[in-house]
Amino acid sequence: MDDLISKLRAALGDRGVLAGDDARDAAAQTWSRLGVPLGILRPASTAEVSAALKIAHAAGAAVVPWGGRTGLVDGAQAEGALALSLERMTAIEEIDVEASTLTVQAGCPLQTACEAVEARHLLLPLDLGSRGSATIGGTISTNAGGNRVLRYGMMRDMVLGLEAVLADGTVVTALNGLIKNNAGYDIKQLFIGSEGTLGVVTRAVLRLRPQALSQDVALLGVERFDDLPRLLRHLERRLGGTLSAFEVMWKSFHDLVTTEPAKGRPLLSGDYPYYVLVETLGADPAADAERLEAALAEAAELDLIADAVFARSETQAKAIWALRDDVAQVARDGPILTFDVSLKISAMETYVAELEAALQTRCPGTRLVVFGHLGDGNLHLIVSLRDRDARAAIEEIVYGLVRAQQGSISAEHGIGLQKRDYLGWTRNPAEIAVMRTLKTALDPKNILNPGKVLAG
Ligand code: ZN
Repeated sequence: MDDLISKLRAALGDRGVLAGDDARDAAAQTWSRLGVPLGILRPASTAEVSAALKIAHAAGAAVVPWGGRTGLVDGAQAEGALALSLERMTAIEEIDVEASTLTVQAGCPLQTACEAVEARHLLLPLDLGSRGSATIGGTISTNAGGNRVLRYGMMRDMVLGLEAVLADGTVVTALNGLIKNNAGYDIKQLFIGSEGTLGVVTRAVLRLRPQALSQDVALLGVERFDDLPRLLRHLERRLGGTLSAFEVMWKSFHDLVTTEPAKGRPLLSGDYPYYVLVETLGADPAADAERLEAALAEAAELDLIADAVFARSETQAKAIWALRDDVAQVARDGPILTFDVSLKISAMETYVAELEAALQTRCPGTRLVVFGHLGDGNLHLIVSLRDRDARAAIEEIVYGLVRAQQGSISAEHGIGLQKRDYLGWTRNPAEIAVMRTLKTALDPKNILNPGKVLAG
């Protein structure tokens, strides 16, 4: 063990390796369950990542890649393993305005990358609550989604090329900057969304979009679930591709974020079963605002919405988004379980009703809070955990109903450790066999994030 750490120190320098109490303290500073790593590796370059993996591979030591460590499925849990943090690889290497691409190192925080790009009047459209902590490498490894998937897709849709280091230290540089490149297998896809189990992403080329010149936001009150998909389709038809968010808050969520100790307050005068945050991003401030207002007026005439407030300033737009972003409130009354499921919109109302009934039968008094990216078919479910022993039973209820609807147990958070045992509820045996074939081919010693996604 000491021999392994000293070899790593020789390759990465003293700053590049934290061990013993230093590693324990660093791992204890975050809210994620990271365990106690054997050591924390902090390479400063791709060459150092490669050197570290070569040493770990020869020793058969497990390596857990770390990004911002704010994932929600224990994908960075590193008990007894070497954690490999990309925190010293944060450089923004190039913003190519003509080509509209960003070349960046994996440890760069998402928000830092977004701000650098904005300064050049471009947009990196990935947007999520953990933008300040999440890193480019972490969001690639987890194929992060977030608030604007409806318009711009998930992280996978923004990655043009990347560089990754394989378990044995081999560097695969595939920093493609072309939008179209059909020359053989698209290798980058192996590393996007595979949660650090097939390679460590070290650099990426991301596709940028023009910065929006207008942002319009409204909060709507809706009386019937059936009106939600109709409203979504109506807005998509009327807004000519500018619709960038369609976020739905069930009353249970809206109540939490508009009552003490939350800072938010209701922005609509009535009380509704569903609240919808609608956002458009466009290029013509006056015309875009008018078009959204007209589309909403039509929606009211069609009886799809019961009430609406239209943000007249950036401050008001921020106040609406702040309600949706105040996800921390869901944990204020004690232990919770969080779920992130994908369903057809047509299945959602039945799903939520059946879930509520099944939870009350199994664990009376359980609170279910629902919100999500409805435009993407993605619901976030928060279930209060009154009895810790009920965890497995609740998971089986949530995932069992997802399975019955042929949905997915993870829309955007990934599998990590938390959902691993349920992978077979959402992927068939042939799919899982291909995953295992890939894992064995690229990491035959099973050292990269072992036990995550697939059981070891
Ligand atoms: Zn989300």
